[in-house]
Amino acid sequence: MTQHSERILMGPGPSNPYPAAIAVFTRPVLGHLDGEFIELLDDACERLRSVFRTSNALTFPVSGTGSAGMEAAFVNVVSVGDTVVVGVNGVFGQRMCDVAARCGASVVPVEAEWGTPLDPQRLLDAHPAPAVIAVVHAETSTGVRNDLAELGAAKGDALLVADCVTSLGGIDVRVDDWGVDIAYSGTQKCLGVPPGLAPISVSPRAVERILHRPRSWYLDIGMIADYVTGSGARAYHHTAPISMIYALHAGLGTVLDEGLEAAHARHQECGGLLQAGLEARGFELVAPAGARLPQLTSVRVPESRLPAATDEAGIRRELLHRYGIEIGGGLGAFAGKCWRIGCMGNTARPRNVTLVLAALDELLE
Ligand code: PLP
Repeated sequence: MTQHSERILMGPGPSNPYPAAIAVFTRPVLGHLDGEFIELLDDACERLRSVFRTSNALTFPVSGTGSAGMEAAFVNVVSVGDTVVVGVNGVFGQRMCDVAARCGASVVPVEAEWGTPLDPQRLLDAHPAPAVIAVVHAETSTGVRNDLAELGAAKGDALLVADCVTSLGGIDVRVDDWGVDIAYSGTQKCLGVPPGLAPISVSPRAVERILHRPRSWYLDIGMIADYVTGSGARAYHHTAPISMIYALHAGLGTVLDEGLEAAHARHQECGGLLQAGLEARGFELVAPAGARLPQLTSVRVPESRLPAATDEAGIRRELLHRYGIEIGGGLGAFAGKCWRIGCMGNTARPRNVTLVLAALDELLE
């Protein structure tokens, strides 16, 4: 849910002292090897360690959207013929299978009905010695949370890869405590930053398994590591997307100034209000209680309440044009069947919940 008139609550504050970050539109961007920029990059990486709750040295923003993070996670550790077990209960689990298969993996999908959470034991039992077990923590296509801790505790020699694109900043993500080996995210969801970067964190155990000359040049973490972590020369690999890193730095500062737990509580409060309000109006939520994401609520389209000659896409258009609220349609198998109402990052405010519920009251029979 995006309220178009909403001011982004980001800007100078205790964690955003860098003039470059504030004056991004008023003076030329810094160079990617400029000392001031390197300092800002280092600080952004340190902030990422805080939100991922990790001490992993190799934690940095991949240049590219969340899918680049997904691709970087697989291409750097999967060799041709490796077994990769993937939990699939939505579009992004399916995408993981596709990416792993393109890396040459023998993919073992472990499916759960869309709208229900994955069973960790079934993932653990799926193969005796997988190289990787991969799961989407917050499945954006269905609004379901898949738990990671049990997988991390029992993964054996496998690396645990977790897609945290929609979870980071919105619900608890504990990379170190849960034994996640590679976690990646995106900037545009609960971190409240424009799209364009994929924060990633790689455990020392996964670093040992990074391939020499993986099948991607651009996403070769081994080559990028020296530049981003400062472990070697800050030599050119590719030109860092400087303005995006300013934005990420500032956005993370806003999250950390609020406090990670306070940010999670705000998402929980707004998601709870929204879900209670929808249920009180007779909507059927897709995810079961206990596995619902507060930041992404998926509801079945209320076919019987659509006004005559209006389809679900028409209601979404009206929400956008009349009220300035954007909600998502269903993806993949859920296309046309459900709505996905995001209440994340800066939009997770009770007043937005009030607005979307009132707008639905006005638009539906
Ligand atoms: N993983 C999940 C869970 C997502 O929700 C998304 C995007 O919505 C992605 C991966 C891909 O991210 P991007 O669209 O930023 O490439």
